[in-house]
Amino acid sequence: MMHIDISPNISTIKSKHLAFIAARRISVKKGRTKNREMSLVAKLDVFEKKYKNRYSKFPSKLSKEFLKDLDDVVVGNFSRLEELKLKYDCLHISKSILSKRKHNKYEKFLISMGKEILEFMGYDSFCEDSANWCSRKFIDLLKVSTCPYCNAQYIYVSSNNEGIKPQIDHFFPKAENPIFSCSVYNMVPSCYNCNHLKADKEWPLFNPYVCGFDNNAVFRITVKDKEQDDIDKIILRKNFYGNIKLFLKVDCEGVEKIKINHARMAFKLDESYNCFQAELVDLIKRLQKCNKIKGENISKILGSKEEIKSLLLGIPLGAETKNYLFKKLKEDFWKKFYK
Ligand SMILES: [Zn+2]
Repeated sequence: MMHIDISPNISTIKSKHLAFIAARRISVKKGRTKNREMSLVAKLDVFEKKYKNRYSKFPSKLSKEFLKDLDDVVVGNFSRLEELKLKYDCLHISKSILSKRKHNKYEKFLISMGKEILEFMGYDSFCEDSANWCSRKFIDLLKVSTCPYCNAQYIYVSSNNEGIKPQIDHFFPKAENPIFSCSVYNMVPSCYNCNHLKADKEWPLFNPYVCGFDNNAVFRITVKDKEQDDIDKIILRKNFYGNIKLFLKVDCEGVEKIKINHARMAFKLDESYNCFQAELVDLIKRLQKCNKIKGENISKILGSKEEIKSLLLGIPLGAETKNYLFKKLKEDFWKKFYK
């Protein structure tokens, strides 16, 4: 998992996204006015009146409070979203309620209120291409070319409307958390596999806008199920497939360790990386060769250590992980095996 640095374009993203949400509150289309805000306020007020006592903590004057927090809900950073998630726990719809076939009155109300919130936030409209502001333009401004969850698949947007664009994963699943369905820090561009593997999982995970694995987890290699520390001892035969495997070695404790292991499970990282055996073998070969000819003073021909690294890993100097496939894997191997 890697970090998406949203900071270079965050002010543009925030202003455009706030304008999009502001236009949702009261919109005029084909001469007809739609007052979504009034409709949502009415729903929240009924909810407070009828079901407030079901909760130990219920924000008083819910609708007023919610509208006051609306800007933070849509563009607040991830730690603010976590605070708001606790504050508006009454608007959370649990998995068990969503999976039920029959609902009682309260559950029916909660679900219909969720729909009202989804309509207010306008995620579906945000996904439609628009000249002003839409998911395509948002992803384009993030300048990310590989999936932040796996770094093993490209994600890209074409500049044409109705062209190619990646999937958007809702870090807090939108069916359960409709209030965050159109929140900037809750919308993570991702590859098809990761979006579908994560689905509605809401385990503690790293939010890519906050951080990635960095050095808390590193890729290592096993030969016949035993970690091999010496790359020169890896003998690549014709039928090596199945003998060598990649795995993610977790090198931290506490919450970080839990989050990394959850990501490994959610995105099946060990399994998916082992689907790229050909790339792995190629990388091992190049590193072995590099170690062998090092004694011949290759720096005179190829340049500095960084230049040699760039050439062997096939990654330009100074490139960011978010734009190159397997960059973390390659760098972990370089640090470990380059002698
Ligand atoms: Zn992915």
